[in-house]
Amino acid sequence: MAPQIYSEKRFGVNSDQLSKNALGVIDKLQKKGFDAYIVGGGIRDLIKGIQPKDFDIATNCQPEEIRKLFKNSRIIGRRFQLVHIAFPNEIIETTTFRSGKDSNDDSMQINDGGRILRDNVWGTQEEDVFRRDFTINSIYYDPFSKEIIDYTAGIKDLKSKVIKFIGDPEQRIMEDPVRILRAIRFAAKLNFKIEKRALLAIKKYRAQIADMPPARVYEEIAKLFLLGHSENSYSLLKEFGVLQILFPHTNLNNERYDTFFTNAFRNTDNRFEQNKKLNPGFLFATLLWPKVFEESEIETKINFRKFYQTTANVIRRQQLITAIPRRFTSFIKDVWMYQIRFNKIGKKSISFSQSLRFRAAYDFLLIRKQLEPDLEERINWWTEFKTANYDKKIRLLKSKRKR
Ligand code: ATP
Ligand code: MG
Repeated sequence: MAPQIYSEKRFGVNSDQLSKNALGVIDKLQKKGFDAYIVGGGIRDLIKGIQPKDFDIATNCQPEEIRKLFKNSRIIGRRFQLVHIAFPNEIIETTTFRSGKDSNDDSMQINDGGRILRDNVWGTQEEDVFRRDFTINSIYYDPFSKEIIDYTAGIKDLKSKVIKFIGDPEQRIMEDPVRILRAIRFAAKLNFKIEKRALLAIKKYRAQIADMPPARVYEEIAKLFLLGHSENSYSLLKEFGVLQILFPHTNLNNERYDTFFTNAFRNTDNRFEQNKKLNPGFLFATLLWPKVFEESEIETKINFRKFYQTTANVIRRQQLITAIPRRFTSFIKDVWMYQIRFNKIGKKSISFSQSLRFRAAYDFLLIRKQLEPDLEERINWWTEFKTANYDKKIRLLKSKRKR
């Protein structure tokens, strides 16, 4: 099959827009006689006029060989081998062209349900194209020949703003159900529509996401919600009935939670816009809060121990779907436990306000207001207390006690 080949000029793309490291890796591979291209988000986003998040490289050089050529590199992944080349400020992900063909050994494995368990049979660029997920993600760019190579009319779909699977959507989702989350992520990020056939397949197979490795699902959720388009991601996940599969314990039909989430994610996207840090722990604390809120009746009976158990249970159940790293689960629990400390104002409030996770806990108190409007007075008090100097803090505590 002959690809469409375009000059980079046509899309206002040029090699200066690549990172020096990515360009260097391609240069070295090509000088050693291999083919090497920018593929995926790196070229897709440049054509769209967006700054790419990272640069992925596709080559006919095999992983072991890449490993030898770049001393700062390592092979990662069993299911899907690739090479990470590490530079001081970025990692360049390099994948070898895949054929997707059956093999005599176990380098290609598909189970009875059509799920790809391993995909490590090397092939040509022409074969590699059809292993990729969406047409917009299968565009290749050679920054030295200055050519953009498109086998799947990905450019056309980029222009008409549509997410289209390469091949049959049902089959591609059965091969790897995480592609459902990827489709939603790109639709949210780029403001694209998902094509009709793909939507039907998503609805048909969405429950399979729950069978995927929790570490992969965790990574995808982080990308859905921490890259500046969380409000869009939220509304699409909800619209396609996928949110319920990712967070089965939250009753999402409750209108109150909808405004709570929308508000929280708008806030998250604003922080991203302002280059502020986004903590995955804070994200999960938010996503799981409605469940904690329902189960704990935080306002009426404050039983520290019981509350702690509730938080631990909510996290434990969620871990079956999303493997939240331990450093974040302890953060989530702290942020939740600290909510109780806002109820009680006393001598310890001073040390509390200076503690490590106070700031995060306070930010969390602010977003709770959407769900619990009665918090307003308490929030105002803590807002004043937080910024006060020591003397004023003492005064605020005294006047609180008098009342
Ligand atoms: P981002 O901007 O988030 O990095 P991306 O398109 O580059 O988006 P990556 O996860 O970096 O996404 O993957 C790079 C490329 O690898 C994709 O564009 C796609 O061609 C291919 N790819 C990644 N994951 C899959 C998958 N699960 N199935 C098929 N192809 C995939
Ligand atoms: Mg990428």
